[in-house]
Amino acid sequence: SQQFVWPMAQFGQIINMYQRARASSERIFGLMNEPSRIEENPDADELQVDDGDVVYEDVSFGYGEAERIVEDISFEVEGGETLALVGPTGAGKSTVLKLLLRMYDVDEGEIRIDGQDISEATLPSLRRHIGYVSQDTFLFYGTVEENIKYGTFDADREDVVAAAKAAEAHEFIQNLPAGYDTEVGERGVKLSGGQRQRIDIARAILKDPEILVLDEATSDVDTETEMLIQRSLDRLTADRTTFSIAHRLSTIKDADKIVVLEGGEIVERGTHEDLLAEDGLYANLWGVQAGEIDELPDEFVERAAE
Ligand code: ADP
Repeated sequence: SQQFVWPMAQFGQIINMYQRARASSERIFGLMNEPSRIEENPDADELQVDDGDVVYEDVSFGYGEAERIVEDISFEVEGGETLALVGPTGAGKSTVLKLLLRMYDVDEGEIRIDGQDISEATLPSLRRHIGYVSQDTFLFYGTVEENIKYGTFDADREDVVAAAKAAEAHEFIQNLPAGYDTEVGERGVKLSGGQRQRIDIARAILKDPEILVLDEATSDVDTETEMLIQRSLDRLTADRTTFSIAHRLSTIKDADKIVVLEGGEIVERGTHEDLLAEDGLYANLWGVQAGEIDELPDEFVERAAE
């Protein structure tokens, strides 16, 4: 049977770029510290995505035999909605999204996109419909344009510029020595974290996927840059099913759905207002981040350590 190594499928069209990028290819996915192998089902169908509804039904998963990392997770996200995953480090937020990207297959339960079990879909078709923006932005050695087109190789300069504009990146790109033809990455012009991130966002805008996975940025950027990034993210996520791992709760308080994970299980769910009213883990995490309380109350710290 055929094996795919994520993210190799996307590279198929330009092998030399793949080779250039190879050293850092694993960094493309901030979620991923390890190359994972998934067995492709020989009878797999092309995934057809229309609305971009996503359903997790009783999903459980562990990296090894020994331990369940994600336990009995169920939720539904309708096309265009944003679902934010919140919880302490190690709660399983990244793992939940790795399963959507099929870096790993679920042990139990099912993940469906527009009614289709993703384990029955071909990997390239799945990944075509999912965009990924991480805080650990990957640029390979090549021009700005090549970096933005990465994954959407049939785009022309006009498309690239439009995407860069929507990503609030056009202005700084124009000011680079050779504009869109400037070589960036390890051996090229060094870009700031905020600039790299906007190139990443431009790449996702150009790819135009129905579903987006956002491993939200916490990089140290100035207020002006933060505002630009937020504005470009708003454009990117509008009308797309978005999964967001939130590090700063202020950026996800408007999410349609918030799922709070602890120890691999869903402990709370609702909107920001619902969860504040519940006065549980979320409300207390919010209190800490908003500076209303100094630290997480002992009961939550002890619970997380269990
Ligand atoms: P979060 O995103 O909420 O910080 P993760 O999903 O990254 O949580 O991790 C959940 C748990 O799974 C942690 O205990 C972590 O150590 C473990 N874990 C993550 N990746 C792997 C892996 N590749 N192999 C084994 N354990 C892992």
